[in-house]
Amino acid sequence: METKLTDFAVIGLGGMGSAALYHLSLTGARVTGFDQFDPPHDLGSSHGQTRIYRKLGKLILETEKYSGINFFFRRPCLSVGADKPGTVFSGALESAKIYNLKHRVADAVSIKNDFPFIRLPKHYKACIDPEAGIMIPEECIRAHLKLAEANAAVVHRQTLIQEINDTGNGFEIIANNIKYNARTLIVTAGAWTSKILPRLPVKLTVTREVMTFLETDKSLHSVKGLPSVIMSEDNGDEFYGIFALDGTHFKGGNHSFNPKKQGRP
Ligand SMILES: Cc1cc2nc3c(=O)[nH]c(=O)nc-3n(C[C@H](O)[C@H](O)[C@H](O)COP(=O)(O)OP(=O)(O)OC[C@H]3O[C@@H](n4cnc5c(N)ncnc54)[C@H](O)[C@@H]3O)c2cc1C
Repeated sequence: METKLTDFAVIGLGGMGSAALYHLSLTGARVTGFDQFDPPHDLGSSHGQTRIYRKLGKLILETEKYSGINFFFRRPCLSVGADKPGTVFSGALESAKIYNLKHRVADAVSIKNDFPFIRLPKHYKACIDPEAGIMIPEECIRAHLKLAEANAAVVHRQTLIQEINDTGNGFEIIANNIKYNARTLIVTAGAWTSKILPRLPVKLTVTREVMTFLETDKSLHSVKGLPSVIMSEDNGDEFYGIFALDGTHFKGGNHSFNPKKQGRP
């Protein structure tokens, strides 16, 4: 069997692995990435057109600039809930203070004034991040892989890694009848992590993220700065919602979906 050497091997090229691959490729090391599908794809966790972010870091801004692929759009984010410990509101406020994020607090009345289409219970508040926005995950992956490959990273698409062997001074991976000896291995396999790392000393549970796409009123299409909303209800349920970039629909998701409670397998 042919043997190839690589300094870094990255298994899984979704949002996390594609970024790792690119930044490792900047070091000049030999970098090899593997994905069982053809990323970006819609079978993992990094698809669905929109993701909320609160603030952009320097590295991701550089990725957008150097790749020439636009994948960020500034939109305020409202983290909403009752003003008490344990809610999305209080968590967002606390982290904004810890990480020095620009933010302001608004009550239900002022939210209704600023965004008439959002009506909240009177006791809810929102922590508003003006530097937040929406990211297109598929384009972000495309940008990272484009730059990684331009830096001579090798990308193996449609390549399922079934086994990893720890050799004591590196790792051995077999793919397409080729043995790869990697000095360092990075596993960013998302929901498949337990399969590829069965001896991982933590129990991982994969849960389903349920989303709904709702057509929006045409009058909303012209509203500038349509916000994204993350909200916890008094019963602990958590939701998030994002207006499509063209204003045509609203994507709503439920973080607390419990398939057993819903009578589903
Ligand atoms: C519906 C939804 C909404 C979300 N909203 C937000 C949001 O608004 N803001 C936010 O910050 N985050 C959000 N997240 C979370 C964020 O999207 C994920 O944390 C992130 O995309 C995970 O990326 P990943 O690379 O870890 O996993 P994935 O994208 O799933 O990538 C894992 C990759 O590994 C590959 N792989 C696995 N096993 C193998 C193997 N054995 N061999 C080869 N390849 C393998 C898979 O094919 C896949 O491409 C959301 C997630 C979901 C699902």
